[in-house]
Amino acid sequence: MNLNLSASLNVFRLLMQPQLCLPHATISTFRELPVPLEQAFKAREDKPAIKAVVLDKDDCFALPDSNEIYGAYEEKFKTLKEAYPGRCLLIVSNTAGAKSWDPNRKLATELEKATGVPVLSHSSKKPGCGEEIMEYFRQHPETGVKGPRDIAVVGDRLMTDMVLANMMGSWGVWVRDGVVPLEGKSMVRMPNRNSKRTKAHRWDEEEQRIKAANNFRISFHVLNDILPLSLLLEALRQEIREVPSNNHTG
Ligand SMILES: [Mg+2]
Repeated sequence: MNLNLSASLNVFRLLMQPQLCLPHATISTFRELPVPLEQAFKAREDKPAIKAVVLDKDDCFALPDSNEIYGAYEEKFKTLKEAYPGRCLLIVSNTAGAKSWDPNRKLATELEKATGVPVLSHSSKKPGCGEEIMEYFRQHPETGVKGPRDIAVVGDRLMTDMVLANMMGSWGVWVRDGVVPLEGKSMVRMPNRNSKRTKAHRWDEEEQRIKAANNFRISFHVLNDILPLSLLLEALRQEIREVPSNNHTG
């Protein structure tokens, strides 16, 4: 199991500052990502100038167990790469490139080959790898990144991607529905297994699979995000209950 100690530890921080998980902009899926990224924040008075984009992979532009760019997003991914060329676009994933999950960079190398985008190697998982991200951009001054305000973080998880953006002092764009919007999923179309499987058929099959996987994803998010918070609240509740009892007996 891909445990995220960083996210669990930062639950304590979130209790004090719940606004850390709030995005600066929200989109339904990766397809709606405004490029250049400034367009995502155009309603704000403090107009940011985005020099670089930190991009999540799983359930953002690819399926969680895939290194392929999801079929419907290939054009958007190409546009994003053109707007943020070279080191200006960086994939930061809690699977590919995370040293605890991908110690030999096998997944990271495959992902770099599939996307043509650098994948960060990081010791601390999101949301705790902000300093490793900034160190990457310090080593690549050609990106024009002078500080965290020049960076936008794009991802589907509030507790990892958006907390990372806020802890860094960067800008967070939340991909609310994951890789495929629930309303966009076919409820009745099934792939015709008798005909030749085209790329469209394969994506149709993927959509069916995701429909089932989304239910699991929601459950997993509850376990990963909410359970630590529930345990913490229960511990605090018990602590509070015990204090007056000790005082009374004393
Ligand atoms: Mg993700």
